[in-house]
Amino acid sequence: MALLSDALLRVQPSATVGISQLARKMRQAGKDVIALSAGEPDFDTPEHVRAAAIAAINRGETRYTDVDGIAELKEAVAQKFRRDNGLDVTADDCFVATGGKQIIFNALLATLNPGDEVVVPVPYWVSYPEIVRLAGAEPVFAEASQETGFKLTPEVLEAAISEKTKWLILGSPSNPSGAAYTADELKGLAEVLLRHPHVHILTDDIYEVLVYDGRDFATIAQVEPRLMARTLTMNGVSKSHAMTGWRIGYCTGPREILKAMTKLQGQSTTNPPSISQWAAVEALNGPQAFLGAWRAVFQKRRDYVVGRLNQCEGLECLVPEGAFYAFPSCKELLGRTSAGGRALATDEDVVMALLEENGVALVHGSAFGLAGHFRISYAAADAELEQAMDRIEAFCAGVR
Ligand code: GLU
Repeated sequence: MALLSDALLRVQPSATVGISQLARKMRQAGKDVIALSAGEPDFDTPEHVRAAAIAAINRGETRYTDVDGIAELKEAVAQKFRRDNGLDVTADDCFVATGGKQIIFNALLATLNPGDEVVVPVPYWVSYPEIVRLAGAEPVFAEASQETGFKLTPEVLEAAISEKTKWLILGSPSNPSGAAYTADELKGLAEVLLRHPHVHILTDDIYEVLVYDGRDFATIAQVEPRLMARTLTMNGVSKSHAMTGWRIGYCTGPREILKAMTKLQGQSTTNPPSISQWAAVEALNGPQAFLGAWRAVFQKRRDYVVGRLNQCEGLECLVPEGAFYAFPSCKELLGRTSAGGRALATDEDVVMALLEENGVALVHGSAFGLAGHFRISYAAADAELEQAMDRIEAFCAGVR
């Protein structure tokens, strides 16, 4: 009898988590590696948020909580959705989990059956299709390539929907491309979705606060309120408030789905960590002004990194509109050989050669469904980015 389950064998390991772990191991072994593989702000969690967590510990907030989150946090989440996104929701329409990933996990596991389809725009965040597969359903990939600014068009969406489609997963600003849909672009997609009332929408808004050049963030349930009854709007404090390790994600959506997610969560993690929940209450209710300053830092880093990437031989990079990733094409390097003598047949070869020869950890585009690209996270200190860009430039210049 096989030890591992069929469900597990359907799933690929997470490349973002895997490469970051490999980079950490190489560093522990004394290698000089700059890791731009994981998307994680390099800022510290703000002082007022840390203080709220310490106060929670000292108050003894250290026991189990309600499965779907403490009342105070669900209230803060509802207020956030009303304040920032114009979504008319109450605490009863909100749900908290151990990171945004667990929101997606719960929602898909609680709703998908074998044979169901989920439309996933390509490039996608590595975990979307794998969670769909784990649930026994099929991801249906819808191209959103560099030619359309990495955005799904209404025509491509229409063609991807079938009678079996249960969900569309939207992520904006996108991991890995940084593409951010405007309200008008979302309206175009919403028109298609209005014609297909059996399709639910899972929107991953985790990079909401990171939209650049004065753009406004838009989310589909706000743009088209008629979709609200079948949209799960997911967000979290990880990227916005530099709280990746605290593991708090949240969402609002149809109560029937939230109830099912609560049932599932009650049989898995029971509740998100109590201390982290109190920290998230402070993150959402406390001062938000510093987010603008952080955004300005990221925008400056984006400009620097994209400028340097476009000067590298064989690379071509669109200017991302949000998040903290750039997703250049490395197609011109393929079929050639690195300075260290490695054959560069695929984007994965490029990324591995760059790691082994020049000590920069990135993630290959094919992990996100789009070969011929790689993802670089610019959520790192300026000096580190400068050094990484010097190394990438040297690598590219050495390709024969
Ligand atoms: N979302 C981040 C990334 O894409 C964190 C790692 C992960 O969970 O994938 O790098």
